[in-house]
Amino acid sequence: MKKIIVAIDGFSSTGKSTLAKQLAKRLGYTYIDSGAMYRAITLYFLRHEIALTDKTQIKNAIEKITLHFENNEICLNDENVEKEIRSMEISNLVSEVSALEDVRTFAVAQQQKIGKKKGLVMDGRDIGTTVFPNAELKIYLHANEKTRTQRRFDEMKIKNSLITLDEVRDNLKHRDLIDSTREISPLKKADDAIVLDNSELTMEEQLEISFNWVMDLKNSN
Ligand code: C5P
Repeated sequence: MKKIIVAIDGFSSTGKSTLAKQLAKRLGYTYIDSGAMYRAITLYFLRHEIALTDKTQIKNAIEKITLHFENNEICLNDENVEKEIRSMEISNLVSEVSALEDVRTFAVAQQQKIGKKKGLVMDGRDIGTTVFPNAELKIYLHANEKTRTQRRFDEMKIKNSLITLDEVRDNLKHRDLIDSTREISPLKKADDAIVLDNSELTMEEQLEISFNWVMDLKNSN
């Protein structure tokens, strides 16, 4: 059967990565967490103290960055940084870094290159609108704020026992605002995306629904 591209977009902590990973596994497709790419770039910028107002510094930094995935884990210049990029320090800066034009141009080009072979599930903020506007299936994932905050809090609490619910909520709101109002490729639902509200769904249910959408598409072609 012909391989397709599935684009999954939505606000932070709507469960995009979980769904994308499970769906890719079930379909035998590649999974790409585009957010991890922006987080790894942010880590590089932090480590090298790149001034976000200095275009030359940004351009030079980007030229020194290579990104690839190994078993769904992101590598920055061949170093596995999957754990490090999930910290609050990165979460607090990633939206500012990913709003930069040169950063987006670099990340989007890499994402589109990976998509050439199809057979891909990619999650992010602009996958259905900018990266793959012709993706065969676009899912716009939604969950209410309370659910999203609790999910992210439960996830982060395991690694950081001092984290508070307020801290997590503030970070989500901060990122959502920047991600949806930035000038370049803001988060928005693509006109042809299907909204999936998973506030009241289990992981199994959202996977089943999405998998059936893929099957329906394949059967209709
Ligand atoms: O998906 P995740 O929450 O890990 O993404 C981290 C950040 O990366 C987002 O808040 C957003 O600023 C940025 N991002 C983006 N475009 C994407 C994926 C993520 O701007 N396609």
